[in-house]
Amino acid sequence: MGLPSSSRGGQRVRLVVLHTAEGARTNASLYNYFNSTQVASCHAGIDDSGVSDGWVDYARASWTLRNGNAYSDNAEICGFAKWTRSEWLAHPGMLKGAAAWVRSRCDARGIPIVKLTPADVRAGKAGVCGHVDYTNATGDGTHWDPGPNFPWDIVIDLARGTGGGGSNPGGPAAPTVEDDIMSMGNGGPTPAGEWGRIVVPLNGRRFLRIATSYGDAVKIDGISIIDDTPAGSGANGKTVQLGGSVAPDRPGPWDFARTDANFANYSHVVIRYQCAGPVTAWVNDRP
Ligand SMILES: [Zn+2]
Repeated sequence: MGLPSSSRGGQRVRLVVLHTAEGARTNASLYNYFNSTQVASCHAGIDDSGVSDGWVDYARASWTLRNGNAYSDNAEICGFAKWTRSEWLAHPGMLKGAAAWVRSRCDARGIPIVKLTPADVRAGKAGVCGHVDYTNATGDGTHWDPGPNFPWDIVIDLARGTGGGGSNPGGPAAPTVEDDIMSMGNGGPTPAGEWGRIVVPLNGRRFLRIATSYGDAVKIDGISIIDDTPAGSGANGKTVQLGGSVAPDRPGPWDFARTDANFANYSHVVIRYQCAGPVTAWVNDRP
């Protein structure tokens, strides 16, 4: 049995639409849900491992955008519309997958890789949008996915294959968003009283953001940035304490950002943390 679908009735596809699955966390579980219920579908699923495509033939309409099904291609991301930007950025595989899918569908149909507003959707323009933009454009339904904090800027830049920098005149070449996403590290929970360690390439960048993964009631006891030249050594003894705005023992999801010209002198940063849940860190030029 395949997933349910309908004829497009001769309509031209002009919207490439992203959704959030609001429950399923993997492509396999999302597909199984659609296949067992036969009440909804989409063309592709996107999870932390990337894109699973071809669930519904692109010549046919999937069942995910109500009256907009006939003129849209649709993918469901295995995330949640309520996620914060930090929570989205803790899922680089999903963001890369979303960008790759958007690019493939736009290329296949000659649709510009442009994020549409609800007014654009209402005006009949071709491009990329979220379910919420269709909802706000048409009044058809109430869905607001993929949510107000979905990082469209990053996904659209990744889909275009262009950089997102340019804010660093006179300094090192602006990094691309792809570089930003690559410049991240992950660390797991640490046993009580022990330090975890994440190494992230800095590559001349001057902005650093550190965040915990979604939903974990973590405790950050402190973070240091260490001059890590040569890479991986954690050597040279220059420790940059970020402590001022890092409150010890503060529970809950955690997001810290700071711009510092000194960061540009370091090749890598080593982040030492104590935490009861997973920690993700990354650097970019886009505070
Ligand atoms: Zn949706």
